[in-house]
Amino acid sequence: MTERQLITDSQNTWCPGCGNFSLEYALRDVFNDLEKEGIPLEKIVLVTGIGCHAKMADYLDVNSFYAIHGRTIPVATGIKLARPDLTVVCCAGDGDAYAEGLDHLIFGAKRNLDITVIIHNNRVYGLTTGQYTPTSPLGFKGRSTPEGTQESPINPLELMLTSGATYIGRGYTKNLKVLRLLIKEAILHKGFSFVDVLQICATYFDVHEIYDTLVYELEKQEAYTFEEVMKKIREWDYNGKAPIGLGTYYRKEAPTFDERIKGKKISEEDREKVIQQVLEKNR
Ligand code: SF4
Ligand code: MG
Repeated sequence: MTERQLITDSQNTWCPGCGNFSLEYALRDVFNDLEKEGIPLEKIVLVTGIGCHAKMADYLDVNSFYAIHGRTIPVATGIKLARPDLTVVCCAGDGDAYAEGLDHLIFGAKRNLDITVIIHNNRVYGLTTGQYTPTSPLGFKGRSTPEGTQESPINPLELMLTSGATYIGRGYTKNLKVLRLLIKEAILHKGFSFVDVLQICATYFDVHEIYDTLVYELEKQEAYTFEEVMKKIREWDYNGKAPIGLGTYYRKEAPTFDERIKGKKISEEDREKVIQQVLEKNR
């Protein structure tokens, strides 16, 4: 089977050096791999939010839904529940998923919905020219915080572990090998897969020199205990200069939301009847 190009003719407006290019090529490679392994491209749906990352819906030639800010997961939930045969992948930004859409992220993990969420975490609002986000470091000087933010960042991996995500990974846009591996593993995992990707924003928060000195690849684990994973996750708190582990942090088998509600679906006709009954009761 020949590799599909999968890059559209749309004019690309990402800045030179933007980490989104790595994510675009990693996704393209993984989709091609999956097609060879039996998941046809026609069965893949990409959902994006709003932000620089979201242009992925324009640039990748796959089925896609350009959602609104922070709302990739509700859209993905609807798609997955209506069509469980589809493979649903969300690309969201850090401002998008960790601020505006945080409740959806938590509920997606809590339900263990069988979707993949990839966060383009550049730790800044790039599209709106450089405001701080929930993962910007303490003291970050941006458009809205010229004196430096006085808030500590959240650790999204910690949040996802405690919320119930069954696959957790961290990538970096300058390590394509790990990025491809994580995206593929996450998509193949049955359940809520979460990959936080340290994405370089070349224009508003270019910290690649710092990341380059701090990142290392995690060793593969046979078993994952919650406590050990939490300890590892807390090694770096999105602040400071502790080592930053790249790779798979956590993986667990658990029933998914879509499996749990399978069989509880009702026909169109029955749904009308139930609605009428509820209306009658409350008249
Ligand atoms: Fe990429 Fe930052 Fe430019 Fe947005 S502003 S396209 S994230 S480099
Ligand atoms: Mg961002």
